[in-house]
Amino acid sequence: MADSNWYPSSWKSRSAAQMVDYPDQQHLQRVLTKINALPPLVTPAEIERLRFQITAVQRNEAFLLHAGDCAESFDACTQQNISAKIGLILSFSLILIWGGRLPVVRIGRIAGQYAKPRSSGTETIDNREVLSFRGDNVNGLDPNDRTPDPERLLSAYFHSTATLNYVRGLLTSGFASLHHPRDWSLSHVRSPALRSVEFEKITRGLSDALDFSHTIGADSGRESVPFDQGGGRGVLGEIDFYTSHEGLMLDWEQAMTREVNVAGSGPSPQEKGFYNTSAHFIWVGDRTRQLDGAHIEYFRGIRNPIGIKVGPSLENAELIRLLQIVNPNKESGRVTLITRYGAGKIGDHLPGHIEAVKHSQHPVAWVCDPMHGNTLTSSSGFKTRNFGTVISELTSCISIHAACGSRLGGVSLEFTGELNDEGFSVTECLGGSMELSEEQLGLRYQSFCDPRLNFEQSLDVAFLISNYFKE
Ligand code: PEP
Ligand code: MN
Repeated sequence: MADSNWYPSSWKSRSAAQMVDYPDQQHLQRVLTKINALPPLVTPAEIERLRFQITAVQRNEAFLLHAGDCAESFDACTQQNISAKIGLILSFSLILIWGGRLPVVRIGRIAGQYAKPRSSGTETIDNREVLSFRGDNVNGLDPNDRTPDPERLLSAYFHSTATLNYVRGLLTSGFASLHHPRDWSLSHVRSPALRSVEFEKITRGLSDALDFSHTIGADSGRESVPFDQGGGRGVLGEIDFYTSHEGLMLDWEQAMTREVNVAGSGPSPQEKGFYNTSAHFIWVGDRTRQLDGAHIEYFRGIRNPIGIKVGPSLENAELIRLLQIVNPNKESGRVTLITRYGAGKIGDHLPGHIEAVKHSQHPVAWVCDPMHGNTLTSSSGFKTRNFGTVISELTSCISIHAACGSRLGGVSLEFTGELNDEGFSVTECLGGSMELSEEQLGLRYQSFCDPRLNFEQSLDVAFLISNYFKE
């Protein structure tokens, strides 16, 4: 990957979509200098380990789960929210492991998922045109707080640190231990809405399997995954868990990029590489993946495994050129394609993309994001998604891959395990086994960005994928 034409700021010579205009550039530079001096959030060894695990996904020997909020907020950085999110990711992955007998690579949209791309730079609120909200690391949701403030980047660093510190703490303190499967939030599976015969069967089988491994001592220490490298503990504790965000704010990504010895490259002479140390995995969004744009220029130079959002506007040939730019040596574990066409469009685009990639011989992990092509506005004005449409894109994706001699390697979801004080889930997406109706959307609609599947709806998806594995 060593390329003398690339350096962490080489993106600045390209035009960047979705750039934030800071009124005080000197202030921005002071903040970036400070961030550049702060310690990394994640380590090169952890990043390389994820790359290694994604190679297993590419060989169909593991399944990838990418999930979390559309956007995190500083206010939502609380003990309850973080543990609910991790609990749901663990429950979800446990159901998949049980169904597929495959290890699951867990990547949270967490500890840095603050910045958001917007379809328009401004919006009208109360007859006043204001700058759009760009995420907590840029400006405020309050229409009177929309001027981009560099201090928010520093605040994002510390909120990411606090989140990650708590996640590491949880995962080293038995939260994910197979000795305490109830702590994986499985107790919620008993919610009446999910008590269909099928779900009962899965949870009973799961509990039996956990009891069995406990009895024979197979759960002592850590999850035994065949693709595990190095032994000992997982990346963030007893299990492997990785962080991710959209690599949108290139000033931030650059400031967190460090040139160090490539982890695991052996004794001298050591190979040097650039790592984005703000997250294990970063992805480029559907709006910022222009071939000659600043984002792709930045992404091509880092060693982290990367995701590329693939929407209906991406031509087959363009996709291959993109792969050629970000992964010229066709290295395994480097690229994950996160497809998000919409239930009505997937049939027109995915087969061509699969064929083109196959022909190019680029190694990729195929992940389905059934959320972003299926957003709609309800008659009551809520931005929402219909569970049935989400499932429709997911099931089409699975069958198209099968028909093309390929295999779906993972899923990317926006979900939340958050419960209110009375123990009720959010009401942001329609349908699911709880049959959430349009009238109920307003009850507990909490997202300030895209609508998320709630706890029950997420487990509906987990059971569905688990069943698919068994067929
Ligand atoms: C997202 O993942 O929240 C997002 C904005 O996705 P996309 O770039 O696919 O629209
Ligand atoms: Mn989103």
